[in-house]
Amino acid sequence: NGTTAPDYPALLERIAADVAPLVGSGTPAEYIPALAGVDPYQFGMAVADLDGNVHGVGDWRVPFSAQSVTKVFALALALAEGGDSLWERVGREPSGNPFNSLVQLEYENGIPRNPFINAGALVVTDRLQTLTGDASSELLEFLRQESGNPDLGFDAEVAASEHEHGDRNAAVAHFMASYGNIDNPVPALLDHYFWQCSIETSCADLALAAGFLARHGIRADGTRLLTRSEAKQINAVMLTCGTYDAAGEFAYRVGLPGKSGVGGGIVAVVPGLCTLAVWSPGLDRRGNSVVGVAALDRFTTLTGLSVF
Ligand code: GLU
Repeated sequence: NGTTAPDYPALLERIAADVAPLVGSGTPAEYIPALAGVDPYQFGMAVADLDGNVHGVGDWRVPFSAQSVTKVFALALALAEGGDSLWERVGREPSGNPFNSLVQLEYENGIPRNPFINAGALVVTDRLQTLTGDASSELLEFLRQESGNPDLGFDAEVAASEHEHGDRNAAVAHFMASYGNIDNPVPALLDHYFWQCSIETSCADLALAAGFLARHGIRADGTRLLTRSEAKQINAVMLTCGTYDAAGEFAYRVGLPGKSGVGGGIVAVVPGLCTLAVWSPGLDRRGNSVVGVAALDRFTTLTGLSVF
């Protein structure tokens, strides 16, 4: 879009210094022991340009649980492999409710509000499972290819922990199945969903892997994953629905499409210029990384870059 790239290394150092007093704030996710035990005094940030050059600061190469950040990549693959008919099964409106809420499903006949709340992500994974026969492995392979990191993997302890504490996700999946909006057996679907959530990535991996969203649908190897229009659609849904029930506040403060996860990671996109990934495990009450949001806020404030 003709924007000049900032001096990323200097900018990242400046942001790290600005947010340093905040590092350690917030509370790591408590719903599973495998996440609750993570040291909150960690912060990393990476930025990748359109050519796949990546810069970082702090703990930007430390792997963490990607959790709901994977929902963006699953959505991209489901659209790439299966096309627009996905939107008959999942909406595109912010929910205004917590990520694991069941309340709206009954009013909307088992159609989740958007692909980034758990209900919607389960529909997306269900679709990917039908299309590929092995949704979680396809997703992992895609992340490996786009990040250029063949060592990316699942975290078996996190996946097991998700299972053990998975009653809510199981309820959501069964409820949607009762409306005919799940095609695969629910236990198999939950398996793939929990493996998907458990994938471990660093900020460097995520910034690189999300590059196709800044390149208007073009993958790291130069081939096309999504149409320009589909890439725009995903960015739009990230902006309106990507940060739980705080997407309005995130748009206000950061002004970029972003997707967060309860591991404390967030990816954000400056279409046509770069992708950003931040990580710090302490979450605010809505489930977004306190320091991560602050760092992205500094990025757009210092550079004037945003989609607005
Ligand atoms: N594994 C989590 C769940 O489905 C994902 C939470 C998240 O990052 O939003 O409960």
